Amino acid sequence: MHTDLVAALDIGGTKIAGALVDGGGNIRLRARRPTPAQDDGETVMGAVAAVLAELSESPLWARASAIGIGSAGPVDASAGTVSPVNVPGWRDFPLVARVREATGGLPAELVGDGVAMTAAEHWQGAARGFGNALCMVVSTGVGGGLVLGGRLHTGPTGNAGHIGHISVDLDGDPCPCGGRGCVERIASGPNIARRALENGWRPGPDGDASAAAVARAARAGDPVASASYERAAQALAAGIAATATLVEIEIAVIGGGVAGAGEVLFAPLRRALRDYAALSFVRRLTVAPALTGTDAGLVGAAAAATAAATRTCVTPPVVAGGRA
Ligand SMILES: [Zn+2]
Repeated sequence: MHTDLVAALDIGGTKIAGALVDGGGNIRLRARRPTPAQDDGETVMGAVAAVLAELSESPLWARASAIGIGSAGPVDASAGTVSPVNVPGWRDFPLVARVREATGGLPAELVGDGVAMTAAEHWQGAARGFGNALCMVVSTGVGGGLVLGGRLHTGPTGNAGHIGHISVDLDGDPCPCGGRGCVERIASGPNIARRALENGWRPGPDGDASAAAVARAARAGDPVASASYERAAQALAAGIAATATLVEIEIAVIGGGVAGAGEVLFAPLRRALRDYAALSFVRRLTVAPALTGTDAGLVGAAAAATAAATRTCVTPPVVAGGRA
């Protein structure tokens, strides 16, 4: 039997999605359950198992060679555990072992959701063909991941690229992560909406007070709404510039609901980048919207599993000694 497919799981605070993905990044089969996020850990695992059971009923399942798991963070890929902030029943939950058990021992690769989105954008999206990239998801939170030297850079625990929680405002507001002045605290959708409201913006007759509504107001010329996006763009630019200066990325890709604001976000972001990315080797940095959309988590988890399998095959043997 051909093993030309990879299974994928995308686990978030609202839904658990599963898929079988082919070598071209196409989704061949899907399954999905709501996340019982407020229930105990075993109930949440039951929803994961139900997704896997549904996939495994298909004759395609026998063609899966591995499974990639993208999960809301924090994750610990070295331990195979997850502790998603929005799923309190899972703290150091042994997700990799449980998924392997539920799949009859398929090799499993765990990454954070930001890393998964990055893998998807590098494989199929705006970061395709770039050797060094930062990809970000800006929505309820701000996540991210890195491609360095042409490869997905996950870090030892699978959390590398966590740009949402680097500080860009030394005396800024406390962040739920325990830090202060984090990119997420300034640039996430809820913070864009909060800042606009605090400064006097009011929602229209529909009562929609989301970041998307603030973007519509900005497009219609509301200066307070525009200013809130400009502040978010500034925080993103400072984080992107710091990353570029540190590891020489060539492109920053931005996805997530907030990126849906389009030029309301991207125009001030490009302007602010000129202020912060000043050194010669970061001045050519480009910024682009993400292309992979809502399937990024699944496609990226599959890509991460494929990359892990390749890594296992090509890693040269460790040469012992060195100081004989
Ligand atoms: Zn933070």
